[in-house]
Amino acid sequence: MIELQQLWQKTLEMLGKEIPSTSFEMWIVPLVPHSFADNKLVLFSPHTFTSETVKLSYDNVFTKTISEIAGVPVTYEIVYSEELEEKFKKDSIKSEKTEQKKNINSFAESKYDGLKQMLSDCHLNTKYQFDNFVVGGYNKLAYGAAFGVAKGDADKRFNPLFIYGGSGLGKTHLLQAIGNYIFSKRKVRVKYVTTEEFLNDLLENLYHGVEKDTFTKGAEKNKRMTKFRQKYRDVDVLLIDDIQFIAGKARTEEELFNIFDALYQAGKQIVLTSDRLPSEIKGISERLKTRFEWGLMADIGIPDLETRMAIIKQLIAQDGKINLSLDVIEFLAAVYKNNIRELEGAFNKVCAYSSLYEETPTLELVKKAINYRENAHKVTAQTILDNVCRFYNTPCDEVIGSSRVANIAKVRKVAIYITRELLNETWQSIGQLVGGRKYSTVMYSYDEIKKELPINNELSDEINTLFNIINQL
Ligand code: ADP
Ligand code: MG
Repeated sequence: MIELQQLWQKTLEMLGKEIPSTSFEMWIVPLVPHSFADNKLVLFSPHTFTSETVKLSYDNVFTKTISEIAGVPVTYEIVYSEELEEKFKKDSIKSEKTEQKKNINSFAESKYDGLKQMLSDCHLNTKYQFDNFVVGGYNKLAYGAAFGVAKGDADKRFNPLFIYGGSGLGKTHLLQAIGNYIFSKRKVRVKYVTTEEFLNDLLENLYHGVEKDTFTKGAEKNKRMTKFRQKYRDVDVLLIDDIQFIAGKARTEEELFNIFDALYQAGKQIVLTSDRLPSEIKGISERLKTRFEWGLMADIGIPDLETRMAIIKQLIAQDGKINLSLDVIEFLAAVYKNNIRELEGAFNKVCAYSSLYEETPTLELVKKAINYRENAHKVTAQTILDNVCRFYNTPCDEVIGSSRVANIAKVRKVAIYITRELLNETWQSIGQLVGGRKYSTVMYSYDEIKKELPINNELSDEINTLFNIINQL
């Protein structure tokens, strides 16, 4: 059986990728593994309320991750430890003091500190401006509305402004640009917050001091909650990012609802972003959905090739050092179609790579930098299946046939797994490929391999070899 420390270490690594960083640091990192027996993991926490928070927000991913790593279904329990809390507090005081010292030093060094502090109170990052936001047909409406709100001359009917669109397409950029514009050009109060920060802020205030006696607790809690609410109500423009994360969090929703109404009735502007329409956010109340739809809903679609090229040119101008030829710009824009964050990531790789060489990067170099596979598009589900069968020396017709013999079933599962990982195929079409199998069967096979990989070295070696073979096709 996997050892306790090792289990927890691996769990941390994986959860770090799954849980948003602020929450991860706040709730998961302070946990200390206590025991692992009878497939139950017990963890100690320095906060009384970690167990509720984790159960409320991350129960599934938590259970799934530990089970995956342990290779068996595992349950968990988070237990508050007073001793740990004492230690935690001491450590925090220590680090606060060092932090204060650092702050004093940097204050002496920089006369801009006051301004920086104000910006960070509003949670704004000056990197995101209207000036460096490229406008095309796909984001024109969202841009226009955002700029109107920023200048303060938007129609009252634009309240709330609800900006929605896929990941990496500029929602946060626009929202932050509104904040930065207002911060630097107008004398009104603006606050940017992500839904995750809002949720953490609320939980911290709600549960702070729960271990005290009821009387002190009640009074203190009321005070804290009043302060919490004021913080979000005492603004003229409230910007909330990624509101879809509120789904299923009833208490957060209620607080947000009240803040929303208070601001709205006072004629203050609210701007929200989401990766989907209000009607598509499952698990939020009707009354909140309706409110999100009261104002203007502006979508951000997919940028066309020309706009993507303009974005690269904007990145070149911002970088100031790199020089890319038109065919390289067009190549990058053609490869990264649906996500500007990925396009930017590729551009940064090209910059890093080309800083090793003196001249303007050639198309060849760019392809190397982004690890571009010339024939990637030639890999089809059928090629994958053929290669997996050949690798295991098993006839393809048996693999797509009805046999349940273990080694044949294994080849089938591996083919399913690799196809799903490498190509963006639906379960249905993969099912079709492996002999017309059902959606649920295919999904189950995929899960089985995924679960077994971390605990079965032989299988993981085989699959890695297969990935290499297929990638070189
Ligand atoms: P989202 O919040 O929609 O997931 P972001 O706003 O974080 O996406 O955008 C991802 C990256 O792409 C950011 O670095 C952002 O500056 C950049 N970006 C997105 N849209 C544009 C645009 N129209 N012009 C310039 N940069 C953009
Ligand atoms: Mg975003």
